[in-house]
Amino acid sequence: MSQEERDARLGLTGLTGAEREARVRLLTERVEREAAAARAALQAQRARRRASERETETAVFACAACGAALTPALRRLSAVPEAPFYAWWDADEPGPSPATVPSGFYAIETESYGAPLVVTDVPGPVMPRHGEHRNAEGKPLVSQGPRGNIVINPDDARGLSLRHASPACCGATPDGGMNQLCACGTLVATLCSDCCLPYELHLSADQVRAIPQT
Ligand SMILES: [Zn+2]
Ligand SMILES: [Zn+2]
Repeated sequence: MSQEERDARLGLTGLTGAEREARVRLLTERVEREAAAARAALQAQRARRRASERETETAVFACAACGAALTPALRRLSAVPEAPFYAWWDADEPGPSPATVPSGFYAIETESYGAPLVVTDVPGPVMPRHGEHRNAEGKPLVSQGPRGNIVINPDDARGLSLRHASPACCGATPDGGMNQLCACGTLVATLCSDCCLPYELHLSADQVRAIPQT
């Protein structure tokens, strides 16, 4: 763009030095005003988004059958964290490992979890954060259990009792499916707490109701 074209675009054509200066000052002020307004709008938008996340992403989970609260208010994590490394074979006392999900939070498991375990051609983890499992014939197994479990720290759960669904040594395993009873007698969750396994409680998406907290 030539100097003349730029002057014409900014309305500077034919102005005296003083007029030109005044006009440039005016334009500069306008640009600064507009930038400040855009910044304020962006900040307001971010604050609204944070507020709506708080509303939709903090919840108490209750038994869908009887309505009993099974957790305190928990905040959602964007994903299930990696299970913390834990040398369970070196531990002085058996299990459980440190929890996968920190206290006060929950996360949604997007992969299949728990029973049924079915034979697969592809060896790999039987379910997220677990190692390989094989059946009596040495064939690798993979979970075909439900997706969408709500994963919490077992220490945050309230009013649940254990009914073993699969053999375990010092805790519980998810291999047999749900093993946690609500006080009303409904199976609502799967506890994983054996010494060599990640320490997690999976609330069944079908058996609990999320009550959003504001
Ligand atoms: Zn219940
Ligand atoms: Zn054990």
